[in-house]
Amino acid sequence: MKRRHFIKKASLTGVGLAVGSSLVSCDEAKSKEQSAEKTIANQSTATVPLVIATWHVIDATAKAMEILQADGNALDAVEQGCRVEEANEKGQSVGKGGLPDRDGNVTLDASIMDKHGNCGSVIYLQNITHAISVARKVMEDTPHVMLAGEGAKQFAVTKGFEPENLLTEASKEAWEKWKIEAKYKPIINIENHDTIGMLAIDKNGDISGACTTSGLAYKMGGRVGDSPIIGSGLFVDNEVGAAVATGLGEEVVKTVGSFLVVELMRQGKTPQDACEEAISRIVNKPNSDYKNFQVGYIAVNKQGKTGSYSIHQWFSMTKFQGGVNEQIQSDYFNKA
Ligand code: ASP
Repeated sequence: MKRRHFIKKASLTGVGLAVGSSLVSCDEAKSKEQSAEKTIANQSTATVPLVIATWHVIDATAKAMEILQADGNALDAVEQGCRVEEANEKGQSVGKGGLPDRDGNVTLDASIMDKHGNCGSVIYLQNITHAISVARKVMEDTPHVMLAGEGAKQFAVTKGFEPENLLTEASKEAWEKWKIEAKYKPIINIENHDTIGMLAIDKNGDISGACTTSGLAYKMGGRVGDSPIIGSGLFVDNEVGAAVATGLGEEVVKTVGSFLVVELMRQGKTPQDACEEAISRIVNKPNSDYKNFQVGYIAVNKQGKTGSYSIHQWFSMTKFQGGVNEQIQSDYFNKA
């Protein structure tokens, strides 16, 4: 392992090492290095690189890990991971094949954030499958943070994205069925898959995050959820950790949920406790209607510890760490 990487890994786990000092001989340094490496190896919850994502998306986390293992950075990993689900027409909550709004238009929201705190998002984007990559272009190639609607689409086209029809036959059929009654009700856990939020730590210990969604099925035209709102759907602070949300965006926005989770970790909470506290802020509001909607958070801290929590059962997190890519059922609030 290269020393530069090793020192970064050592500081990740709180294992200090006095290398570089003229008082430490090479042999001494080597043996300290070896014993520190062992310590790291034993802390299986704190190995990097790692990637976590909302819901059951092992192909997406596998793609992200492929990039991290090849010494790629966390930003590329989360973008490429999200693209896997955006291109998957069978997933009806993200990218191509996403369920439309009540007028039959598929409109996408996405955001991305890097280790420097730079961010970009697209809101109400139509006809472009890879909303996450457009969000990255907003971050890197414009002086802005958010682009919406037609402006976002025009920007994407100038960047070489091909416009296409995102409404698949299956989603059109589902929408036509919905129109018979046209009742609006948030669906708890759409087919075990919803907004894809992804957080990664690369081999350098740097954190990035991304999320992408077609938003609530059959929403009002023009509706924007939490996912493209920095601090609500996604927040990354490379000194502390990162969080991402899924579920009823309106409730996440009201508590600036992902920022809240990261700030709670900054105050010393574990990722798990921080996710639980953020959910408790929603369900403990006077007159909260939480029985009728779902919200879930996943989080990771700088040490590579992770957490996830939701209001209702069946939210899950996919985690790829230490060579294992697995779906983990989240603990949840509503056990009544
Ligand atoms: N959070 C997304 C939104 O409100 C949707 C979801 O994750 O179910 O747009």
